[in-house]
Amino acid sequence: MVHRVAVLDDDLCHSDKCGLECIRDCPVNINGEDCIHLGEEKLAVISETLCIGCGICVKVCPFDAITILNLGEELTKDKVHQYGINSFRLYRLPTPRRGQVVGLVGRNGVGKSTALQILSGQLIPNLGDYEHEPSWDKFLDYLSGRELKEHFKRVSTGEVRVSLKPQAVYKLPEIWRKDVRSLLEKVDETGESKKVIAELGLTEALPKNVPDLSGGELQRVAVAVAALKNADIYLFDEPSSFNDVYQRMAVSRLIREIAAKGKFVVLVEHDITFLDYASDYVQIIYGEPGAYGVVSSLYPSRTGINSLLEGMLPQENIRFRDRAVTFQAPTAVESQQSTEVVASYTDIKKTYPGFSLDANGGELTRGIVLGIIGANALGKTTFLRILAGEEKPDSGSVNVGAKIAYKPQYLRSDFPGTVQEFFTEKVGKGYDDPNLQASLAAPLRMEKLLARNVSELSGGELQKVAIVATFAQEADIYALDEPSAFVDVEDRFVIAKAIGRLVKAVGKSAMVIDHDIQLLDLVSDRMLVFTGRPGKVGSATAPLGKEDGMNIFLKEVGLTYRRDINSGRPRVNKPDGKLDREQKEKGQYYYVTRGVPREAAEE
Ligand code: ADP
Ligand code: ADP
Ligand code: MG
Repeated sequence: MVHRVAVLDDDLCHSDKCGLECIRDCPVNINGEDCIHLGEEKLAVISETLCIGCGICVKVCPFDAITILNLGEELTKDKVHQYGINSFRLYRLPTPRRGQVVGLVGRNGVGKSTALQILSGQLIPNLGDYEHEPSWDKFLDYLSGRELKEHFKRVSTGEVRVSLKPQAVYKLPEIWRKDVRSLLEKVDETGESKKVIAELGLTEALPKNVPDLSGGELQRVAVAVAALKNADIYLFDEPSSFNDVYQRMAVSRLIREIAAKGKFVVLVEHDITFLDYASDYVQIIYGEPGAYGVVSSLYPSRTGINSLLEGMLPQENIRFRDRAVTFQAPTAVESQQSTEVVASYTDIKKTYPGFSLDANGGELTRGIVLGIIGANALGKTTFLRILAGEEKPDSGSVNVGAKIAYKPQYLRSDFPGTVQEFFTEKVGKGYDDPNLQASLAAPLRMEKLLARNVSELSGGELQKVAIVATFAQEADIYALDEPSAFVDVEDRFVIAKAIGRLVKAVGKSAMVIDHDIQLLDLVSDRMLVFTGRPGKVGSATAPLGKEDGMNIFLKEVGLTYRRDINSGRPRVNKPDGKLDREQKEKGQYYYVTRGVPREAAEE
């Protein structure tokens, strides 16, 4: 038996602009029954009981607004919440553990924030009955005999205090109109504000008003506010956006300290290095973005993340991706490298009031991906803009004969029109290139976005449109500034793979700035490391071999890496653990040899 799910994307359904094809062509409707009709709000309403799953409405809808899926019957009893008719539904829930950090990972739109809202008590789950007011009593009945019952019993009576760091930090300046110092003093219930301010590197931000903070500062202030609350359960929804690697590590140390006090902690995160480092357990939410999400069982973080890469959940015997992501195969095999220099530059100097950048000269050869890493505000963007010809150096020169396609860090969403119109205007026929379609546009599901207005896209959607538009350009060098920002894990892998197919395999080159170490490790052949004092002085090394570059960078951050014996993926060693100390002594921060049979001993 299957369980039918029909989902309508309200933003895409425009019954005033179509010929009501779904209603006209539905074979059940033709047979005289009422499977699809136009509802009061002029949106299609689909009956999941009458639907036979033929998929005709999905095909004939000119706006791609309908999704029909068949799920296993066993899920029906696990439906926790459904927002409304033909809308998103969540199956099962995360299971927080006392004294542990539970990491939650999955695609955008599979219900991570919904799950956190339920855990926090902000949203009373309706068990799929969206026609009646939900109540805690009904939900508690449903939970009888389950691990989570105690938690929700105390949530429903207000005995549990919950602290939530929301995903949308950009909304916070509207609520917090004061300076950081008085904000943190006011919210502090733990008496630890001094310590937290120091740990999160917020000292210089204290006198600033919240609306004037940089993205990374705002994110860390939001983390501090959540951490300073005296709660029983702490929920952190994507705390790494805008933060650099040092700041991500500081945030994860703080999160671990909270759990060590015997609290419940749940962390939603797309950066798997950080997720791995911060979590004891991992739960994967799989499903169809916008349609449904299922929370997996609890896995120890190492095996959970390996399962995520594998695309397969052993305990539930579910494959949620058709192929594994691998770190084993050296990407250089398929690349068309040559010694031909496509760009070169002498030593470069650039100063702004209060900031100066010094970059050592270097060159980029054909078929090479240069990964660029370093803390925030050290001049990475400035360097890339100089190479792309968007900014002039004060001294030194750049020799780029090749054409560069450039994706800036900060994206503009003020294009007056749809995504389709954006592509037509910016890249013409480039968007239709079969290679681009197969490697990038199709896996990123661009067709779902084409009819949407650029101004209404989410951060992740806008990022993906910008990346596709960059690769749709005819160029020799692709320069990408922070392509992973707001993008989920699955799509980060799609982008990493596409860099292989659209750049290396066709003899082009790329430069990629990012803070996701795993992503950089996956795509880079060579590396450029930025060091210095953020916002004051930055210096860049010449392009280095990947091992040297990673070694210098990790030494700066004070982290050592090993390779996972099963997946080959790099993992952060436990700080001050045996491996960490040994590798630091030898100066081997970045472990290149795979299959070190020490992994087990480290756990
Ligand atoms: P994630 O955090 O994994 O990105 P969310 O929990 O934010 O996912 O959203 C899951 C789905 O539920 C999305 O398709 C979203 O549009 C939908 N959704 C979220 N909140 C509501 C709501 N209040 N009413 C209707 N749909 C919603
Ligand atoms: P990163 O990309 O490493 O975060 P950026 O290159 O964006 O660093 O910025 C480095 C420093 O230069 C920052 O302190 C920033 O405020 C300053 N800066 C960048 N662009 C300008 C500009 N056009 N005018 C003045 N200052 C700038
Ligand atoms: Mg930058």
